[in-house]
Amino acid sequence: MSSPRVDDDARSFWAGMREHKIVLQQCEACGRRRLPPMPSCPFCGTPGGTDTEVDGHGKVYSWVVVHRALTPAQEDEVPYTVATVELPDGVRMVGRLIGEGAPDAPVAPVFVDHDDWTELRFEVIS
Ligand SMILES: [Zn+2]
Repeated sequence: MSSPRVDDDARSFWAGMREHKIVLQQCEACGRRRLPPMPSCPFCGTPGGTDTEVDGHGKVYSWVVVHRALTPAQEDEVPYTVATVELPDGVRMVGRLIGEGAPDAPVAPVFVDHDDWTELRFEVIS
C-alpha cells in the first residue's frame, strides 16, 4: 500500500497513528470533533482546533465488500471489507473491517504498521 499524502492539517492525525493513537481535531468554540482534519470547524466556522485523542471504539455505520482487485498488486487481498465506523460523538471514520459487516456491530481499532505510515483498521468485537 502506498503511504498517504500528509498536509499540514492532517499532520497530527498521522503522527498519532504512528503511536497507535487516534487524534482528532476538536473545535474550541462548539466542542465538536471532526474528521478529516481541516483549518476551521465545519459546524460553526471557528478557525483552528485542539488535538484530542479518542479510543476509536464505535459501531459499523455502513460497509462494502470489495471482490475485484483494483490493481494486480491487490489480487491476493480480495475479498476485503471497507467500513464506515461511527464513533460515540458522531465522527465517522473509514477503514478496512476485520470480521463481517453488520449494522451497528461494535468495533475496536486495529493499528497496522507499514514501512513509513500506520493504517487504521477496525475489528468487529462481541
Ligand atoms: Zn465549532
